[in-house]
Amino acid sequence: METQGAPHRAGMVAIIGRPNVGKSTLLNVLLDYKLAIVSAKPQTTRHQLLGIITGEEYQIAFLDTPGFLTRTGDTLDRRMLARARGALDDADLAVLVVEPRPPGDIERELMEVLAARRLPAVLAINKVDRVKKGTLLPLLETYNGLHGFLEMAPVSALRRDGTDGLLQLIAAHLPQGPPLYEPDTLTDRPERFLVGELVREQLFRLYGHEVPYSTAVEVEEFREAEEEGGKKDVIGAVIYVNKPSQRRILIGAGGAALKEVGVAARQEIESVLGRPVYLELWVKARPRWREDTPFLDELGY
Ligand code: GDP
Ligand code: MG
Repeated sequence: METQGAPHRAGMVAIIGRPNVGKSTLLNVLLDYKLAIVSAKPQTTRHQLLGIITGEEYQIAFLDTPGFLTRTGDTLDRRMLARARGALDDADLAVLVVEPRPPGDIERELMEVLAARRLPAVLAINKVDRVKKGTLLPLLETYNGLHGFLEMAPVSALRRDGTDGLLQLIAAHLPQGPPLYEPDTLTDRPERFLVGELVREQLFRLYGHEVPYSTAVEVEEFREAEEEGGKKDVIGAVIYVNKPSQRRILIGAGGAALKEVGVAARQEIESVLGRPVYLELWVKARPRWREDTPFLDELGY
């Protein structure tokens, strides 16, 4: 007997928006939704995929669009910008993430980019836990007057409020078609890369403005427990900073600050990989690494 279910949909989705609006938080919440049934597995494609969600009737591949707006215009920034443009070229749909406040220059610029590319887009107004309900309606009207969004969804990534609904909205607007990736694919990034990002995430959480922006993380050692006959994977990562003074800040008095990074990062890594790890961190000063092309290649940026 033939089933009369909804047609399968699949596509690539770029999440864009100014820094700090909650793009990463939202993405993690959306991916978490299905994380239990997927596994991390490297796969090489021409896209920079951040995460894939496979449901019964849809598959969504989220594209990485780091640093869409540049800060210093150095080599790393230019690479990030080029990659963000590439992600928009490949995307079937964009999700513009904003905060619950009137659109600023960046939002207007991004809406222009969407319009110029005729890229269908969904607006996600995040952090609605911070505002009174009554403020949302005028905001939705403002955005509606500025751009032809397919849908507008108020959400709170932090409280996981409205995020399931957003996922369904996204899926509903993807092209009909079969899955693009094996159902158990979570990301095309190797575990090594994910581990580096989880360390970097803690640097952003624990340090002020300048330090995280000046750091790169390279996982130099990744030995699986089985190879070692041990109980835990052994991971060694180097945190590169621009200046010796930043190295001192990062390590902290008696190594206390670095230790806090290590403990928090290890917990995140264990939860993502689903197995215990031993994590060792080093800090090295490497002046002007953001301009160092071979080094950026090595890091996979
Ligand atoms: P990104 O730069 O756009 O990737 O933003 P992040 O995901 O790193 O989030 C920036 C900050 O906003 C973090 O402190 C988050 O905890 C916070 N944040 C993210 N989503 C929400 C939300 O729904 N509500 C509130 N109150 N804060 C949020
Ligand atoms: Mg982010």
